[in-house]
Amino acid sequence: MVMELAASEAPPRRVSILGATGSVGCSTLDLIARNPAAYEVEALTAYRNVDLLAEQARRLGARLAVIGDPDRYADLKAALAGSDVEAAAGEVALVEAADRPADWVMAAIVGAAGLRPTLAAVGRGAIVALANKECLVCAGELMLEQVRRSGATLLPVDSEHNAIFQVFDFDRPEAVERIILTASGGPFLHFDRAAMAGVTPAQAIDHPNWEMGVKISVDSATMMNKGLELIEAAYLFPVDGGQIEILIHPQSVVHSAVAYRDGSVLAQLGAPDMRTPIAYTLGWPARIETPAPRLDLAAVGRLDFQAPDTELFPAIRLARQALQTGGAAPTILNAANEVAVEAFLAGGIGFLDIAGVVEETLQRLAQSPVGCLDEVDQADADARRMASHLVAGVRPAAGRQA
Ligand code: NAD
Ligand code: MG
Repeated sequence: MVMELAASEAPPRRVSILGATGSVGCSTLDLIARNPAAYEVEALTAYRNVDLLAEQARRLGARLAVIGDPDRYADLKAALAGSDVEAAAGEVALVEAADRPADWVMAAIVGAAGLRPTLAAVGRGAIVALANKECLVCAGELMLEQVRRSGATLLPVDSEHNAIFQVFDFDRPEAVERIILTASGGPFLHFDRAAMAGVTPAQAIDHPNWEMGVKISVDSATMMNKGLELIEAAYLFPVDGGQIEILIHPQSVVHSAVAYRDGSVLAQLGAPDMRTPIAYTLGWPARIETPAPRLDLAAVGRLDFQAPDTELFPAIRLARQALQTGGAAPTILNAANEVAVEAFLAGGIGFLDIAGVVEETLQRLAQSPVGCLDEVDQADADARRMASHLVAGVRPAAGRQA
């Protein structure tokens, strides 16, 4: 009884959501809206979707709403007229939003565009729920150094990393033999290379188990998502790349596992609903209620596993090599992939060209070190330039549809 009273009287957690209008952002706001007394919303950000951002900010009583695209500032101002929500726009304002004094920040911008805002939240020592895996891939060392300096708490939102976080014995890392990163295999798990060559963007973003933004959906189809997650895991957990195994598990029920030296394997399971890992970080260290479907193993019936085919999905091999090479290689991999995915979605290159562009960009660029943010920016910009050049040189395949 005393405990319950104490919990209900706990001051509300002040939160900011970067990338509020995306798939992870909306799931986060869904949880917050279910228990409004427990949270105060400081800042919400989006890139272009003014209408949704303004609606979210009004509904949740946010103090600040930031739109990334500066051309949409007037629209945002107009959409927030008559409310108490402050409006701002542009890249600098995104960083300022992350700098606002929220206890908890959801980093759910997609791509390297989220790097500076995420670093700002980390830099002031906040609890950072990290969905934006690209910023860790592109600047992992810098991010971890910032975490050490500021004392920030980094909580992984990615379902696999959240699973590992829940079962990893951080007090005895030497007892860990390996991490088993599960992967659904995406929509083309049973395709051969010839069939993959002709797939359309619509087919690629139609994920069998998860509803996600378009970029991560394409990454799941090429399995570059698992490659990025391999690098993400190597930064988040005290293991090296060789200790991280990737295992195909089409049902997405076992979200990942940790194998210990005594032969024990500890896994976290759940229905594939991002509100579970998001809630783990939102309530942390407490566990909070979610409306996510409960796992019914009898209904699931069977769980399948198989080793990944890296011939069919070269992105996994490229990511592993980039991790091994280190320096700018992961930054280059990520930037080239962002360019290639965008080109594929726009109908400019074929599905198989995505990994091709990434591989060639990695081969053509020198692997410089990335010890500071300027060096990360340089490697990222060089890779984008090279990948765009390669994309422009890809001859459209006959009959390809956008
Ligand atoms: P999404 O495309 O649905 O949303 C992206 C958000 O970022 C939107 O709010 C958008 O407005 C904002 N944004 C996009 N470009 C921006 C820019 N240049 N500047 C500022 N803001 C920008 O993506 P998502 O599926 O929600 O994924 C977000 C991140 O979380 C990604 O890094 C993804 O890999 C990761 N993630 C997502 C899921 C999922 O289930 N969706 C699961 C694990 C990890
Ligand atoms: Mg994941």
